[in-house]
Amino acid sequence: MNNLYDVNNIFAKILRSEVPCEKILENEHALAISDINPQAPIHKLIIPKNPYINFYDFIKNASIEEHESFWKLVNDVIEHFKVETEGFRIITNSGKNGNQDVPHFHIHLLGGENLGKMIG
Ligand code: 5GP
Repeated sequence: MNNLYDVNNIFAKILRSEVPCEKILENEHALAISDINPQAPIHKLIIPKNPYINFYDFIKNASIEEHESFWKLVNDVIEHFKVETEGFRIITNSGKNGNQDVPHFHIHLLGGENLGKMIG
C-alpha cells in the first residue's frame, strides 16, 4: 500500500462495510456504487477494492488483473444503465488541482441526460 494512503477515507470505510452504500455491481477487484450527491440522473462511482490514492497510483501500481477487473466493471455499469448508445461522461479528479475530495481512486460515471460541454 502507498504509505500516503489514508485508511480512514470514506470509500475505505465503505469497502470495509463500516459505512453503508447503494451497491450497483461488484467483481473481484472493484465495486460500483451510487454517488450520495448525484450531479446527473445517473451518477455512479467505480472504485477499486485495493488501496490506490488516485488515477496515477492505480495506473502505475495496480496489477494486470486489477486493471482488467476495474475497466470490465466500468463497462458492466455502462451496460447495466444502458447508456452505451445515448452516451455518458467519465471523470476522475486527482489531487489538489483536480479537487479530489476522497483520496481513494474512483471514477465518476455520469449520464441520463445531456451533460453539457463541461461539469461546472
Ligand atoms: P471526488 O471529488 O473525490 O472525485 O468525489 C467524491 C465523490 O464521493 C463526491 O461526488 C461525493 O458526492 C461522493 N461521496 C462522498 N461521500 C460519500 C459517501 O459516503 N457515499 C457515497 N456513495 N458517495 C460519497
